[in-house]
Parts: sequence; C-alpha cells; structure tokens
Amino acid sequence: MTPSFSPETLALLRKDLASNTRKLFIDGAFASSASGETLEVINPATGNVFAHAAAGDRYDIDLAVRAARRAFDGGVWPGMPPAQRARLLTRLADLIETHCERIALTETLDNGMPFSMARFAAAVGASEQLRYNAGWATKITGETVTPSTPGEWHAFSSREPIGVVGAIVPWNFPFVMAVAKIAPALAMGCTVVLKPAEQTPLSAIILGELIAEAGFPAGVVNIVTGFGDTAGAALVDHPMVDKITFTGSTDVGKKIVRAATGTLKRVTLELGGKSPVVIFPDAHLDRAIPAAAMGIFGNAGQVCAAGSRLFVHDCIFEQVVEGLTQRAIELKVGSGLAADTEMGPLVSNEQLERVLGYIETGLIEGACAKVGGQRSSGANLEQGYFVQPTILTGTTGGMKVCKEEIFGPVLCVMKFEDDDLDRIAALANSTDYGLSSNIWTRDISTALRLAKRIKAGTVRINGGAGVDPAIPLGGFKQSGWGRENGRAGIEAFTELKSVTVAL
Ligand code: ADP
Repeated sequence: MTPSFSPETLALLRKDLASNTRKLFIDGAFASSASGETLEVINPATGNVFAHAAAGDRYDIDLAVRAARRAFDGGVWPGMPPAQRARLLTRLADLIETHCERIALTETLDNGMPFSMARFAAAVGASEQLRYNAGWATKITGETVTPSTPGEWHAFSSREPIGVVGAIVPWNFPFVMAVAKIAPALAMGCTVVLKPAEQTPLSAIILGELIAEAGFPAGVVNIVTGFGDTAGAALVDHPMVDKITFTGSTDVGKKIVRAATGTLKRVTLELGGKSPVVIFPDAHLDRAIPAAAMGIFGNAGQVCAAGSRLFVHDCIFEQVVEGLTQRAIELKVGSGLAADTEMGPLVSNEQLERVLGYIETGLIEGACAKVGGQRSSGANLEQGYFVQPTILTGTTGGMKVCKEEIFGPVLCVMKFEDDDLDRIAALANSTDYGLSSNIWTRDISTALRLAKRIKAGTVRINGGAGVDPAIPLGGFKQSGWGRENGRAGIEAFTELKSVTVAL
C-alpha cells in the first residue's frame, strides 16, 4: 500500500529534525533555553533519538509568563475586538489544515501513532476546536438581574477573561490536546504559556510557527518545551499565572492541586480513567465488538477515555470475547508510517515497561491472557516499544489491572449474569475514576436507566461522537476537576463579575 503522505516531505522533515534543535517560542520569537540544555526526542517505533528540543526551565518559564502577562495586562489581547480574535483563531485553523501533513508526520515520528490518525487529529480535531471556540469569542454574555434589596437598581453580571493561563499537556495526542487547551483560552481573551510533554515536544513548535504566521500579537501564546518537574512545576508555582489547565495522570494532577494552593490559582484537571463498556444481550454486536476493540486498541490504549473494563452479559460472553480476540489477532501492529498500520508503539520504554508490568501483575493475580500479553516480536518491531493487543479474562474488580489505569492496549473482560441495573452500575462504578463509559443495548430504557446510575462525565450509548468540541468532557471522582469543551469549557477561562448600580 502506498503511504498517504509524500516521501519527499518525510525525508526533508527527518533531515531538518536531525540537524536543527527545536526552540522555545517566547514573546513572538524562537530562542534556545537560557541554560542551553536540550532534551532528546525518541522515535518510539525505533527507539532512536531523531531530534532535540530545548529543555526550558524555571528561568524560561518566567520569561514566558512575563510575556503573557504583558500581552494580557497591556490589553493587546483581551482588549482586541472579539471578532478580530475570532478571525485569528480561524486563520490558525486554516493554516493547520494547510500544514497538516507536516504536523501529522512530526506527530507520528514523535508519538508513534498511525499517520492517518495523526492527520485526522490535526486537520479535523485541532482545526474544529479552533473554529468552534472562535464562534464563542463573540457570543459570551452576562445576565441582567433584578435584586430584591430595597431601592432602584441596575444589576448585571459579566464574564471577563481569567488572565494568564498555564496549559500543561500530555504525550498521547500532543497536537490536538495543545490546540484544545489554548483555543477556548484565547477565544475568551486569556494569554497562554503552553508546556508540552517532554516525550513529545515537536508538534507544539510547529503550532508556534503557525501562530506567528497567523499574525497573533507577540506574547499571546508562548511555548516552553521541557520536563514536568522543572518547567511544568515552575509554571504551576509562578505567582503571575492565574489558571492552570492540565491533562495528564491523576498523580501529577494531585501534585498540581497541592502546588496551586499557594496562590489559589484556578485549576482545571482532565485526569485518568478506567472506563467501563457494558454490553447487553440485545446489543448490535456487529457494531459493539469493533467499537470495543477500537476503544482499547486505538492509539495503543493511550487514551484517557479508553474502554479498559468490559462487562458482558453471560449469554453472549463467549461470542463477544471470540469476536474481540479475532480483532486483536488481525490488528496490524507496526510503525505509524506504514499505510496499513492500525496500532503503533507505546510512547516510551518507560510506558512499555509499565504496561508489561501491569500485564504480569494481572497474570499473577489470576487473570488469563486470552490473546497477547507480551511485547510484540517480528520484523521491524523488536527495537520499538510495541506491545501486543491484549485481552485478559478471568479478571475480577479487586485486581490491580481492573482498578488502575494501565494506559496501554489491555482489556479486562468480566461477565454479569442478571439484568439488575443497580448491580451492573455498582460494577461499572467500582474504581476511583469516573471519566467515560459505554453502554450497548437496543433498549432505550435500559440504556438511559443505566446512564443515570453510572458515575462518569461521559456516557456513550451505542457508540460515541469521539471528542467533539461542543460536548463537555471531564471526570467525576478522581478523573478530574471541571470540564473542557462546550459552554462549560469556555466559561472555565472566565471570571464572573457582578455589577450593581444604585439608581
Ligand atoms: P505520564 O505520567 O503519563 O507521563 P504526566 O501526568 O506525568 O503523564 O504528564 C503530563 C504532563 O504533565 C506533561 O507535560 C509533564 O511534563 C507534566 N508534568 C509532570 N510532572 C509535573 C509537575 N510536577 N508539575 C507540572 N507539570 C508536570
């Protein structure tokens, strides 16, 4: 099969990445880190270092925050007419579409995901985030209120941009996550310092180039690549940052909350998950089985909303497990640059060891690997961080593999034997997480009654809409604080002000 990108573009990109260290984007200009330190960028499909990026630290973060502060306090960005801000966001969306091949190739080299997925995430996911949020720039309003306090009043509320936002993103969908974080903040008039994950810093630098090309004023978006415990922690600590928006692990989310108490920054957290998939006997299995497979094997399971716990009714259990096993066997694992690849490598050696460690623990606890369970072998796979699509049966709710987020292509399958929705919901709710959930049944009452009982920010019935910028996303319990996307996601970048006038 021919790849859907130009081999010349890939060759040029590789050459450029090998010879030019990626720089920080601060106050509208590209610069090395003040310390001169860099970080190595590894291609997870080969295990080789293929690029370097500046390793920013506390000093660079301070420069970036001060630039964002000036762009905010001087009114350059929040004072710009909303329609003009919207036009810039839309222009950035257009540029992302134009450059989506280079962005997607960079993402595939850096993160490992299949090129087609990376291109969709950039050309559709990221650009639609910008367009959706551009629409909000001109539509955010307050309310007029009639107080009961004696006297004659004019009272109203208004929404104002929160200020300087520190946006910290993970490595699983680096480009679209970065865009989804900055788009609502910019639409509302906030300025931003973006900190990409150290494993995948490269596509954010292209975002910086396109932001400059689109004509955003200097300092409105600043991008500091670097490590979490240096650059990330400095951003959270910085007294001039008004809000942190973070996507990543629950452990780091808790650290951020602790660090943010010093200045009582606003914090939005989109954290881990252990999302249940419940399949009833009357479900369309020809749709449910492939969707459940993609829900855990898509992006090698490195998805916060991955459907990692599957609950199947006893009477269809064998059929569903067989169908999933077949899908796992057929799944084409390989380099994201190969046109027929359906599942790429895990992002890093650390992640590979973590996932293999979980599988081993599951087996020790009594689970059985129906399929997979090991590092992938075979031509071109041995050097990379590939793991087999894995289905664990014989699992029970108390096992570590059923309670903790693995963030890999590992599905735990369990059965239920009756139609007691309270009992099924109790199984589905039996983790500390509450990010997403999936229900498969043709009985709308069963679906909605279970949806009411499930403690999760998202319930997908008979298939999901993916991540849509209009649909709020976020978690119950330890899956996070607040919501992204939709009106809630926009309002999270505003402060509400009440104004009362005694007439
Ligand atoms: P993972 O554990 O899966 O690598 P993390 O939650 O550690 O994911 O990382 C998500 C993002 O959080 C990354 O950009 C990382 O650099 C950043 N990060 C990690 N530790 C901290 C910290 N102490 N403070 C702020 N950001 C951090």
